[in-house]
Formats: sequence, C-alpha cells, structure tokens
Amino acid sequence: MNFHEYQAKQLFAEAGIPVPPGRVARTASEAADAAKAIGGDHWVVKAQIHAGGRGKAGGVKLVKTIEEVRDAAKAMLGTGMVTYQSAGRAMPVNEVLITQAIEIGKELYISMLVDRSTKTVTFICSAEGGIEIEKVAKDNPEAIHTVHVDYVEGLQPYACRKVGFGMGLDARQVGQLTKIMQGMYSLFNQYDLSLIELNPLAICNGDLQALDGKVNSDDNAAFRQPRLVAMRDISQEDDTEVLASKFDLNYVTMDGNIGCMVNGAGLAMATMDVISLNGGSPANFLDVGGGATKARVTEAFKLILSSDKVKAIFVNIFGGIVRCDMIAEGIIGAVKEVDVKVPVIVRLEGTNVEAGKELLKNSGLAIIPADDINDGAKKAVAAVAGK
Ligand code: GDP
Ligand code: MG
Repeated sequence: MNFHEYQAKQLFAEAGIPVPPGRVARTASEAADAAKAIGGDHWVVKAQIHAGGRGKAGGVKLVKTIEEVRDAAKAMLGTGMVTYQSAGRAMPVNEVLITQAIEIGKELYISMLVDRSTKTVTFICSAEGGIEIEKVAKDNPEAIHTVHVDYVEGLQPYACRKVGFGMGLDARQVGQLTKIMQGMYSLFNQYDLSLIELNPLAICNGDLQALDGKVNSDDNAAFRQPRLVAMRDISQEDDTEVLASKFDLNYVTMDGNIGCMVNGAGLAMATMDVISLNGGSPANFLDVGGGATKARVTEAFKLILSSDKVKAIFVNIFGGIVRCDMIAEGIIGAVKEVDVKVPVIVRLEGTNVEAGKELLKNSGLAIIPADDINDGAKKAVAAVAGK
C-alpha cells in the first residue's frame, strides 16, 4: 500500500523524526484556516497524491500570505495531477497539506528498503537530496552511502555515525541523523513497511528536518496492520486494480494492448515475456489463481475488456487444479455477457482439456485456438497487427 505525505509525516512525528508543523485541508478556506492555525509568515501548499515529482508538476507552492495559501489550494484541489512518477495517470487532488515554509540550508536524501541481493533491510543516504536518487547513483555513485542492517544486531549507532560523517554533517547533526535512522528503523519493523523515503531531509538553521516523506507497506502484512488499512485512500489507486482486488484477482495494469488471462503468477510472467519476445506488449498482468471459479473467470474477462487499449486477448491456462472445461465456460459466459469486439486467442492445456476445447468449438464464438504458449503469443501479436 502507498500512503500520503501527511500520513507518512504523522508516523515520522510519532517516531521522533522532526517534521515541520502542518495540517491537511480539503477546501481552500480550510487551507487558509490551517495556515493561520500553524502560524508563521511563509507556508508551503502541497498536493496530496500517491506520486512524487509534485514540485515539477506545480503541486508544491511556496507562498507568503493567507490569500496566496487560499489561491494555491484552490488551484490544486479537484484537479488531476500528472507527474513524471504517476505513470501517465492523472492523480486526483482531494487534499492539500499546508506546512510552515522552512528556510533550507541543504537538501539531503535518506531512504530505507529491503535489499533482496543482500537479504537485509538497507539505508541509502546521500548528501545530494531533493533530486532523484537514481540520477545521483548514475552520475555520482560515490555520493551514496549504504548501511545493510544485520537482522540479529539491529541498527547500531556507530553505523549511523559513519554515514553522517561521510555525508559531511557536523557532530550535532550526526546525533540527529542517528535518532532519525533509529526512528525509521522502528517504524519499518512496527508497521511492516517496504519503503521509507525522506527526500528532502533538509538542514534548516543547522538542524535536520524531513520536508517530504514517503512510506510504502507490505500488502501481505495488511491483516495485522489495521491502522495502515484505515489510512488507505482508494481514490489514488487504479480503478481496475481496485475492482480486481474485490474478486481476489491479481491484476496489474500495463502499457500494452494484448490482454492476458493466465493462471499462476509464474505462467503469467512467462506469458508476458513470450508476448514481448514475439514483438507484442501486454496490457496487463492477470493471475486468476488456482482456485478460479466460473464467476471469477467471467469477472477477469470483463476487467480485461474494460480497457479500450486492449486489441486482442490471449488466454493461457494450464489446468492443474483449475479445470479447462470450467475455464471454457467462464470465457463463454463472459463473451456472451460483454460485447467482445477483439480477437480472443485461447490456449488450454491440462485437466479436462478435451472437454474445454469442445465447449469452445461448439460455442459459436470466434475464438482462435492455439497449440502452445509460443503459438498463442504469435497469434495474439498477429491479431493486433490485423493479420
Ligand atoms: P516532490 O516534488 O513530490 O518530491 O515534493 P517535495 O515535498 O519533495 O517538494 C519539492 C521541493 O520543494 C523540495 O525538494 C524543496 O526544494 C521544495 N520545498 C518543499 N518544502 C519546502 C519548504 O518548507 N521550504 C522550502 N524552501 N522549500 C521547500
Ligand atoms: Mg520529494
């Protein structure tokens, strides 16, 4: 799950990570009231969306009067904001965060994630903050400091101090950084997080403060994180993916035009690869799962068809636990319910495959049968090309 900046900062504050005073507003007049309540004479109005890169997209405005707070909030609220991190989607701005504007001395970067290659929870720190860390890693890799935390030892203060001095901080700031890293580490463990990012972590009047915050949590731990579940904002999520999660379908929207319906995550990945190898591009990842029922297959089919980008559908099912005849019934049911205008290529293999093929053949539907995964992918690519 992803969260808003203001939610991340709420967690930060509780863990002793300094953040500027702020308040959330849903209307322009609430924003003006928030600025008055916070006090000070400079404010930042920030669009709350599940995507970074807001600064460049007009979602972070520094203002000097209450009137300007109102105007900035009015300009952002109710709009759809596209940033270089929103994958082409216009993210709805339903809330803005008003914070006191801080005089920035220097912008640093710090994040925490699970590093699969070392099997450790890892901190990534850089004295060059405020910009994309990928860019720093490419142009100036020696500016990046990492700490791999030993699971048994936990986060040791000396490791934090080493990074702090490496980043050129003074002794007092190194002490502050150590506390911040310890706060991040305890949040990470307490809330089953998969990412924490403070960018920028700014030096303001000599002290460290998190001016922006991002937190992601592990969906698999949602059952034991009721507080995080209550923070979920579905308005920020892809509509199709939200619908898919209601039917227990593992669905991810992709950029291409070949809709895929597959059972098993491994086969789904392989299917996407084979489509790409044949010069096509998948419109989605969809694993209907081993326990797929006719109703779920029907819903899955409708989900794929809900995108007008889809120019062909490739159904690739290996019937192990799931039966091919039942999948065939699901496809027939869905095609009858929804008006399918695109070619449907079906490859069935495994349990009850003959019965499944028979059902499809006798259905009177224009379904293109495929012999194997490669044949199916080729036929789907050809169908999209109009061949
Ligand atoms: P992002 O673009 O979505 O990552 O949003 P950020 O919250 O990181 O804001 C982008 C940039 O705006 C930061 O890198 C800062 O340079 C600037 N900014 C954000 N908050 C403040 C603030 O309180 N004071 C000042 N001076 N600049 C800020
Ligand atoms: Mg940022």
